[in-house]
Amino acid sequence: MEKKELIYEGKAKKIYKTDKEEIYLQEFKDDATAFNGLKKDKIPHKGELNNQISTYIFNQLKENAIPTHFLEKLSPTEMLVRKVDIIKIEVVCRNITAGSLVKKFGLEEGIELENPVIEYYYKSDELGDPLFNEDHIYALKLADKFDLGIIKKMTLAVNEILRKYFLKHGIKLVDFKLEFGKDRFGNILLADEISPDTCRLWDSETNKKLDKDRFRFDLGEVEEAYQEINKRLAEA
Ligand code: UDP
Repeated sequence: MEKKELIYEGKAKKIYKTDKEEIYLQEFKDDATAFNGLKKDKIPHKGELNNQISTYIFNQLKENAIPTHFLEKLSPTEMLVRKVDIIKIEVVCRNITAGSLVKKFGLEEGIELENPVIEYYYKSDELGDPLFNEDHIYALKLADKFDLGIIKKMTLAVNEILRKYFLKHGIKLVDFKLEFGKDRFGNILLADEISPDTCRLWDSETNKKLDKDRFRFDLGEVEEAYQEINKRLAEA
């Protein structure tokens, strides 16, 4: 597989064309940003760690019949993915109160939610990814009712699969963000990455934070937390 021109560079990843029209190459970087790009740094080995962690997770989802863009891990920092058009919605799913939910509604952190809470954010750097609802999504023509129905069902299914998967490895899945895309046939595929950059992950015994919150709030041992997640998921 030949790596061709760079077509997109985001905060944590680069996407390249390949010699196959329908296959893209996704490369994970060590760069980390938070608070809409205001905080920037590098986390040593994050690219490798997130590539490996995302690979474990996409394989787990594949075993459970969730359609994803993931094809295969190519190198320490690269994976091959199916080409999709990204739908400009960030879907957040929450099991335990944390982050912006706590801030927005004045809640205490760490409360188990009776039912998962799904939120939609408009994927727009200029606008700072505002929270929006289903009617906004239809008005902006980002997805129709049918597609949003599929996205919501897939998100809830991913939540159930990953909750069990992480718990088996001694980790609580607090919340996470998903992105979806459409392939050339119009199928909706789970896309982007799933890693400690995009999930909140707490040790199931101690509630120690093992995710990007260590970077966001200068909690120290950032790389070690990502290493710990990788080490636990490597165990069968
Ligand atoms: N998240 C993400 N990218 C974003 C915003 C949020 O991956 O641009 C993830 C975040 O890591 C967390 C979940 O989505 O696992 C919920 O994030 P929240 O709304 O609490 O916002 P944050 O505290 O990250 O600003």
